[in-house]
Amino acid sequence: MKSTRVFAIQERSGAGRALISTKTLASQELVLGEKPAFISPHLSLFTSSPYKNICPSCYGIHNEDPRSVCANCTDDERLQQFFDLGLTPLQASICQAVVTLAELRKRRSKKVDTLMTRDVQDDELSIKICQALVPICAQSNIKMVHIRDALGVLATNGVKVQRSSQFLPCVALYSNFSMANHSCLSNCNYMYDPDTFEIELRTKTVVPKNRELTITYLHPMMTTQERREATQTKWGFTCMCNRCCDATELGTFAGSIWCQLCGVGVMSALSPRCPDSTWCCGSCRFEMPSSAVNQLLKALAEGNISEQTNDVGDLKDTIFKLEETLWRSSQFLHWNHAMILNLEYRLMHHLAALDKIPQRTQTQTNSAPNVDAKLPRPFWERRLQIGLHLLEVVGQVDRGKTKWRGMVLQDVVISTMELAKRDVQNGSISKEVFKAKVNKSIQYTHEAVICLNNERMSVPSLFNERMSFIKLENEEVHNTEEEQCFLCGKQNKTGSDDVPLQQCASCQKI
Ligand SMILES: [Zn+2]
Ligand SMILES: [Zn+2]
Ligand SMILES: [Zn+2]
Ligand SMILES: [Zn+2]
Repeated sequence: MKSTRVFAIQERSGAGRALISTKTLASQELVLGEKPAFISPHLSLFTSSPYKNICPSCYGIHNEDPRSVCANCTDDERLQQFFDLGLTPLQASICQAVVTLAELRKRRSKKVDTLMTRDVQDDELSIKICQALVPICAQSNIKMVHIRDALGVLATNGVKVQRSSQFLPCVALYSNFSMANHSCLSNCNYMYDPDTFEIELRTKTVVPKNRELTITYLHPMMTTQERREATQTKWGFTCMCNRCCDATELGTFAGSIWCQLCGVGVMSALSPRCPDSTWCCGSCRFEMPSSAVNQLLKALAEGNISEQTNDVGDLKDTIFKLEETLWRSSQFLHWNHAMILNLEYRLMHHLAALDKIPQRTQTQTNSAPNVDAKLPRPFWERRLQIGLHLLEVVGQVDRGKTKWRGMVLQDVVISTMELAKRDVQNGSISKEVFKAKVNKSIQYTHEAVICLNNERMSVPSLFNERMSFIKLENEEVHNTEEEQCFLCGKQNKTGSDDVPLQQCASCQKI
């Protein structure tokens, strides 16, 4: 087995272990595939859980006697000791998982022995779990130091996984995969099988030999401050990737603001690695303390709208509010700022949803397509403008075949084709120009299929609240798209799950 491995595990001084490529890897190449070494219900469920009746063996959610396992599982008498402590079934299964991991680590089981740990912060959750396990530590050879080690291993290496909404959100450990470190400029993606939690790590770009193989724990449209806070509080490290160490974020200015004095210059942190760095205008050299910049960003973030909407009235209202927020934010933030990109990404999904509405009513009432019901040209131009902006800027800070890229490419193709069809019909572009646009769209579509397939089963492990909202929207838009021809938008029932974008028979002739 070892000779076919395309990665090695290397110790880095003071920075833990890392996965390193042992040969040049092509884009989308499989780096590793492995089964989980250990699974536990997500620890946060210990203190706040909406679930009452769960199977403590398979972690399924059911309505049977809360103290027994489900029909598919066999009873585990070891759980009784945790029930005796007065814990709920969910708390008992979390405690059992933590103790099991502590035992595995204590006897240096190969599966979990290589995983790194860090000192657990004494947060409320860890304290509560440790307190619950005091009686267990008193009567067994598992001591509090082992419990803390297990909690540290889970916090450092855990990957959030979930079978379906019928099962608890869980955290899984992998012997090799868990050693993949974070970089905001990662070169790999991962996905897991929702039934077995078997995980696959694949490259998303070409990776030369002897490079560290990295994944991103965070969404690329998070701001520098959000990324720094997340890596610090959740995993206890400061990201030192090229994006985080460059005040211009690779020339995109995704963290910069307009100068508050001259109004035309761009202000960035003087030393981006330092959270307390002074900010300075590139034109007039006006300086601002980081606290003032953070205050400004916080105020803007709080003004952002976050409601989820479904019906037409709300949707139009939300689009209006998003445009308003974008306009207000762009008075202060560089037009490539991550907060702007994030708002644009949300706007893009809302515009796509608006486009779905007239088509939905058409299929429901079975009436002839109503040309007047089509959305006006500025709608399509705005959608295309946003899509191209996201491709250009986010493509700089998160390269390769990613899910967001697949989503945006899909949107760009739909808007490009809608505009091109109108233009060729009214004679403002020639047949040749139209054909060139079709060819470009087909090229984009092939890339979108690769992007979406490459990240089909999962998304970066721990999103913040805001991003998980977007994730849900993604899935909706993606699913409705699957049944439609990407060129003409007609319903196309032959679309299979494996090919998110398909042309209908009439469009294939173009
Ligand atoms: Zn079960
Ligand atoms: Zn970074
Ligand atoms: Zn200035
Ligand atoms: Zn078609």
